[in-house]
This record gives sequence, C-alpha cells and structure tokens, in this order.
Amino acid sequence: MADSPTVFDIVVLGGGSGGYATALRATELGLSVALIEADKVGGTCLHYGCIPTKALLHAAELADSARESERFGVKASLEGIDMAGVHSYKDGVISGLYKGLQGLIKAHGITYVEGYGRLVSADTVEVDGQRYTGRNVVLATGSYARSLPGLEIGGRIMTSDQALTLDHVPSSAIVLGGGVIGSEFASVWKSFGVDVTIIEALPHLVPNEDEALSKAFERAYRKRGIAFSTGVRFQGATQDDAGVHVTLENGKTFDADLLLVAVGRGPRTEGLGYEEQGLRMERGFVLTDERLRTGVGSIYAVGDIVPGLQLAHRGFAQGVFVAEQIAGLEPAPIIESGIPRVTYSEPEVASVGLTEAKAKEIHGADGVETLEYNLAGNGKSKILATTGFVKLVRQKDGPVVGVHMIGARVGELIAEGQLIVNWEAYPEDVASLVHAHPTQNEALGEAFMALAGKPLHAHN
Ligand SMILES: Cc1cc2nc3c(=O)[nH]c(=O)nc-3n(C[C@H](O)[C@H](O)[C@H](O)COP(=O)(O)OP(=O)(O)OC[C@H]3O[C@@H](n4cnc5c(N)ncnc54)[C@H](O)[C@@H]3O)c2cc1C
Repeated sequence: MADSPTVFDIVVLGGGSGGYATALRATELGLSVALIEADKVGGTCLHYGCIPTKALLHAAELADSARESERFGVKASLEGIDMAGVHSYKDGVISGLYKGLQGLIKAHGITYVEGYGRLVSADTVEVDGQRYTGRNVVLATGSYARSLPGLEIGGRIMTSDQALTLDHVPSSAIVLGGGVIGSEFASVWKSFGVDVTIIEALPHLVPNEDEALSKAFERAYRKRGIAFSTGVRFQGATQDDAGVHVTLENGKTFDADLLLVAVGRGPRTEGLGYEEQGLRMERGFVLTDERLRTGVGSIYAVGDIVPGLQLAHRGFAQGVFVAEQIAGLEPAPIIESGIPRVTYSEPEVASVGLTEAKAKEIHGADGVETLEYNLAGNGKSKILATTGFVKLVRQKDGPVVGVHMIGARVGELIAEGQLIVNWEAYPEDVASLVHAHPTQNEALGEAFMALAGKPLHAHN
C-alpha cells in the first residue's frame, strides 16, 4: 500500500454515517482521506442506534406474531423472551455490517486513524500528539443522548445506550419522551410483555408529524395497551430498590422498574476545539450554509452536529454532498423537507415533505388540498391485519408537497412518497402509474387516484 500523504485532500473527524459517507465518496472521486474515529466506524447508527433498535423491533414483531397466531389459524404460542438470544441475533446483524463497512474503508484506501481527535487549527486535527492536515476538514462528531437538568443517568434510569443492552425484560417501564426513539422502545417493550407508560411534554406523541398521524398513533398505542401522558412536563425522578418514581409538574406520579430517558440528542462538539477555531455555534450545534461550509477555512460539518433532522440517511447524503462539493462537482444542495422520516414502531409512521399545517403556513389555508386514503380499502393491509391511512398534501392545482402514512410496514412505502415529493409530481401523474396488486404500495396509487378525482377502492 502507498504511504499516507503528509497533507490529505480531506481529514474527516468522526466515522459515523456522515463521516464515513464523506470518506467513501471522496475516495471514489480520487481524493485522499484520513478518517479519524475514537470508537467504532459506523458510529451511533450502526452500533447504538438504527440497526440495533430495528433488530429489537423485528424480534418484537415475531413475539406479536406468535401471540396473535391463532387469529390466522396457526397454532403457536409465545413462551417468553430470551434476552440473551435476542442480543445474540442483534449483535450478529451489527457485526456482519461492521465487518462489511471495515472492508469498504480498507478497499477504498482510506487512511483510518483510531483515536480521539481535536481540531487544533483550521486545517489540522490532532490525535494523541500526531497531527493530520487536510486541504479540507469535515467535522462529523455526531451526537449523544441528552438528559434533563437534575436527572442523572445511572442504575434504573437509562438512555437508549443502556436500554439496548438490557439483559432482562423489565416488568414495567416509563419512557420519558414520545418522539421517535421513545416510541420505538415503548413498542418493543410492549411486545415483549412490559407495562409501558410514555411521558411527553408536548400535546402529542410523535409530535413532529402531521397531527392526523400523531392522533392515529395515539389511538393505536392506546389499543395496544401502551399508556401515555401528554401535555404535562416532567418534574423529577428518584430511584430505590423497589423501582423508579417519576413526578410530573401537575403532581401526578408514576412508578416502574426503569426509566428510559429519550428527550433528544445533543451535538457532540464540546472540548473539540471548534469554538477556538472560530466556528459559529448555536446550543452546541455547528452552523453551516446550505453547502455545509462553516465559513472558517475549508471546514465543513455534516450529520447530527448540524441543526436539522438527526437521521442517518441525512448524514449519508450530507457526506456524499460534501465529498462531491470538494471534488468540484457542484452538487445541488439537499432540501431538508425532502428527507424521509420513519418511526419503526408498531404501527409504523412514515412521512416526507410538508405537514398539512406547514403547507398551509406556506401556501395559505385555501392553497392546500389534502386527502386521506384508509388502509381498509387495501387488500394487502387487510391480509396483514393492519389499519391506518395514507394522507396526501398537495398545493392546490399544483404538485404533491407531503406524503404521510401510518400502518404496519409503511416505512417501506416512503421510497415512493419521496420520489413523488422530491420530483414535484402531480397527483394525476401518479394516478396513471400502475401499482401491483395486492401490495401496500397500491394504497399510495389508490390515494393518488382518489386525489386526482377517480377513486377506486376508497372507503372514506
Ligand atoms: C436509539 C437510536 C435509534 C436511531 N434510529 C435511527 C433510524 O432508525 N434511522 C435513522 O436514520 N437514524 C436513526 N438514529 C439516528 C442516527 O443514529 C444518527 O442520525 C446518525 O448516527 C448520525 O450520524 P453522524 O455521523 O452525525 O454521527 P454519529 O453516528 O454519532 O457518529 C459520530 C462518530 O464520531 C466519533 N467521534 C466523536 N467525537 C470524536 C472525536 N473527538 N474523535 C474521534 N471520533 C469522534 C464517534 O465515536 C462516532 O462514531 C437513531 C439514533 C439512536 C440513538
């Protein structure tokens, strides 16, 4: 292998979704890259986020299938959850992907540096006294699980990091935060037989979604027996041998075996030399322009440290964008609202583009048209025994600006929604495309047929 250059085209700090995507794309374009990672390449998503949670959710789905099998004429029963077995399945998935990623890093000729880096000048990162200089620097140090003031993590009070490796199934759990991460853990635990209560300060669960989805999600969780409190803020929590005891600002109390704190993720930027180098920061996040330039030297920032959706695929896209930008390809800036969002719970929630409320803010109350297509009319959803709907938001006489869905497996349908919104398709365009029967995708086709004024199996 050739010796590493003394000055790299790019020095990337952080090997998570954003950082490794930058490195892979940049080397494909012939650039030399040093990728610095303190823990494991793959970052939060692969080791402590997307992949482990989705493995747990799949195990949870199997538990539900066994429990409900009789409804489908299949004689099976759920004997219990073997957490050691669940972890060995989950860890097997992670280690397979981890090996694959390490292979890709090697095959791309990326100089991989193990260690904790710090930005010491506008073009140099220092790791254990060794300096790595780049014509460009990409910061991708990611995020950590936040807590609330006075709420210390430890013992029965945990974040997703500890919850992912829990060696037993608790009998009850309180989930603080009804956003994506909290809702996904609540879903897993309920399927595993845990008594779950979610506490959310905002008026709804999955509060960033279109209100129609949030309300339907709450109905579905209520039906599953997942308890929740919304609209009241958390006040404090204590723990003892018996369990955790949580108090809300209205005086209401809850007790359980454990408390999962899922109140969002903060940027991992402290003590890394960012402020010292003059980067513009806000609440710890690194501010950039739409081309992800920080404005200091040739420093870029990608992923969870940049304000916006904290999602792995946003990190991938930003990494690819920055690599292409540095290589002079002048890629088109990423439109944040065109990034799909999925909550992988049971039921799933998936959306892309504008909510009805946001679309009305932009286009005026009379400038927006919406349509809800109920999954009751969709054969495949009936077969799967799932309920839910597709909600479309279009600019009046204009393109589709939002696609929102709830129901089992709808996360897989968002790919089509994303093409429609990002390509600014008209309902009439999509309505004339043939969707395979019986698929859940067909629900999207039928929703667009209904919005184009020619409904087929619509039961609204
Ligand atoms: C429980 C959970 C579930 C999630 N599920 C999903 C999902 O289903 N879909 C989805 O899209 N997103 C999901 N996410 C979010 C997703 O994981 C993040 O958006 C994504 O990992 C962000 O990528 P990143 O590159 O910005 O940061 P990270 O993945 O956090 O990577 C940053 C890396 O930088 C390294 N690092 C930090 N500081 C230094 C330093 N000074 N020196 C060297 N290395 C350093 C860290 O070790 C880390 O590996 C989930 C997150 C969590 C916690």
